[in-house]
Amino acid sequence: MPLSDQYRVAPGTRVNLADWKTDDAEGVDRSEAEKRLSENILAMTHLQHTLYAERKQSLLVVLQAMDAGGKDSTIRHVFGPLNPQGVRVESFGRPTPDELARDFLWRIHQHTPRKGHVQVFNRSHYEDVLIVRVNGLVDRSVWSERYAIINEFERTLSQAGTTIVKIFLHLSKQTQRDKLAERLEQPHKRWKFEPEDFSSRAKWDEYMEAYGDALGRCSTSYAPWHIVPTDRKWNRLLIVSEIVRAALERMDPQFPEPAVDHDEAVRLLDQIP
Ligand code: AMP
Ligand code: MG
Repeated sequence: MPLSDQYRVAPGTRVNLADWKTDDAEGVDRSEAEKRLSENILAMTHLQHTLYAERKQSLLVVLQAMDAGGKDSTIRHVFGPLNPQGVRVESFGRPTPDELARDFLWRIHQHTPRKGHVQVFNRSHYEDVLIVRVNGLVDRSVWSERYAIINEFERTLSQAGTTIVKIFLHLSKQTQRDKLAERLEQPHKRWKFEPEDFSSRAKWDEYMEAYGDALGRCSTSYAPWHIVPTDRKWNRLLIVSEIVRAALERMDPQFPEPAVDHDEAVRLLDQIP
């Protein structure tokens, strides 16, 4: 089975995250992983170029993780090399009063990708069944309805020509501790620290349960979740790049027919000195 498929959650799976690996190199060593990552990125840049020219379909990549799970680094390494004209990244933090005055998808829908574009979500509408559920920010009767609403929303996007790939960067509790300690020690990482990092760590088990439900109930044929072992950075980048590359290959973008007849264009060009 290709690496890109190994971590996909089949629709209807009940996900218990304790059963999913966080540290898994699948027989690939670091130098091999780094070589394959470069190859994947090169292939992705060609595919993205064609997707941009084609302008018929779009790709949405949803990234979720516990704090220090490597979302920012994944965006830099895997999506950074693409042509920025056709890539958008949107990070969803705490909703503003303006956003809270609307339904939970209002702020999300404004950032779904236009045809030809790749859109990356750094956090997403899933926060509305994760932090919102764990911290009791709305009643159970409200969040429990959201799984079905999310599936319908994603089906709407899919029907409009958006390929959706959802990736959960699965980190162990111990690795999170190491990463947070590193954040405290290193001056260039310290700015990322937030009190929320501690409070969400303190509720680790509740988060794992909420994630398990979200990943299981919202992994569909048209918008599958992937659970990517993320304790080792090079392993995480390899697997994410494999998943995104495979999605772009399945989309199979094609250059459009040119708007002018080739011979006619050559003739016209020659006519004008
Ligand atoms: P960061 O991604 O580290 O910049 O942090 C963003 C913070 O915003 C995280 O603590 C998220 O859990 C929080 N957040 C994102 N979406 C929501 C939401 N819908 N409701 C409440 N908090 C959210
Ligand atoms: Mg943070």
